[in-house]
Amino acid sequence: MHQTSSASWSVEVVYRGIFQKRLANRISRGVVLGARREGKVGTAFARYGDSPERNGIPSKNFAVVATDEVQLESSLARYEPESVDISIVVDDTMCKGVESWAWYGVQPINKLVVPGGFLLVTSDKQPEELLKAIKTKPYDYTLIVVPSPVHAGVFAPEGSASFAGLWVDNDDNTDYNCLAAVARVAPQVMSIDSVLAIVRERTHDDARVDMVKATYDQLQPYTVKAGEGSSVSFEEYRKPGWMQMREGIIVEAQQVGTRNPLYKKWSTRTRRPLVNFDTCIKCTQCWLQCPDECFEVTPEGTYEVIYEACIGCSVCEEVCPVPDCIAMVNELEFDDNDSLYTLYKQDPEAYRQLLQKHNIPLHPELIEKAKKTPAVHDVQERKWPVAPTSEPASAAGGPVPLAGGEE
Ligand code: SF4
Ligand code: SF4
Repeated sequence: MHQTSSASWSVEVVYRGIFQKRLANRISRGVVLGARREGKVGTAFARYGDSPERNGIPSKNFAVVATDEVQLESSLARYEPESVDISIVVDDTMCKGVESWAWYGVQPINKLVVPGGFLLVTSDKQPEELLKAIKTKPYDYTLIVVPSPVHAGVFAPEGSASFAGLWVDNDDNTDYNCLAAVARVAPQVMSIDSVLAIVRERTHDDARVDMVKATYDQLQPYTVKAGEGSSVSFEEYRKPGWMQMREGIIVEAQQVGTRNPLYKKWSTRTRRPLVNFDTCIKCTQCWLQCPDECFEVTPEGTYEVIYEACIGCSVCEEVCPVPDCIAMVNELEFDDNDSLYTLYKQDPEAYRQLLQKHNIPLHPELIEKAKKTPAVHDVQERKWPVAPTSEPASAAGGPVPLAGGEE
């Protein structure tokens, strides 16, 4: 974090596109409003590259606050901050990494956090648990978990996978609690008194003010040491320059049996589907209905999920006719996109235990029927070839030069 004598501070809000846009707006604008109450100047803005958004796609808002207009202008000389003092993440499943419309590839969630900076995550998990997913940094910073409203004694969240997930306009104090967390870690940006004044003005409800204050009091900074966190390696992300950008929104046609190598959609996911291969009756519904063609037929004629491509929409769970044959599970429970069918083949019992660990009933009474059901697909013909890993092709069909990207 910059020293208190610093004249400007940058804050980013990382949110899931569309569902949490309003939440992100309220937080980023709230930071500026709180700072302005104390005589500072600031501005809040969305990242141009994140529009149009798509449901669930990680996106960003920014707030820049400064002690005077000159400092503010110099901070805004580059449209998008390249580093931030505070990063606010309003869905804990994004701790695994984020990929937006604005670049190719997945970035660590804490990529922009400066040495000594702050990562604020809305979650009902402990910091140690979140750090299993958050990539290491070569320097110390501080992680603060902003608790779910139910933990702060307010409203029950609708689901625990990511409690702010489908926020839209929940009015559940998540926005105010995030502002309180900013006040906690950076009172030089805005004080808790300013935050509480905003809550009072907007809600006219002293009980809400007290709840936000209670959350502020219970926040516990956790110092993340250099090297602490997940050592998972990320593919180098690529931000094409304007000379390299492809025209408009071009989605190139793919050959049958291949997937677009540019689209690694998993960072959109808050939950992932688990398939019970023992009870799958090979009906093909998941394979047919998945909007992102994530299923591949296995040698037995059942269907497995290619997790790198799965957006976690739950359609497969909805259409599967067999009870609990596909069940959605919190994404933070997994630290890679490896094939779970491979695990099932290597150690079926371990795979069943995995399902049970997530409270998925195994339905042994359905196994015999499933075994007798013949495969629909010619598994030899339908087995997809390995997706290409070559560099993306340009609109003209040639390779896109990916170096640079800053013009
Ligand atoms: S959740 Fe199911 S239907 Fe949705 S993208 Fe993933 S595999 Fe496909
Ligand atoms: S929808 Fe369910 S039963 Fe049908 S093929 Fe997919 S996993 Fe198997």
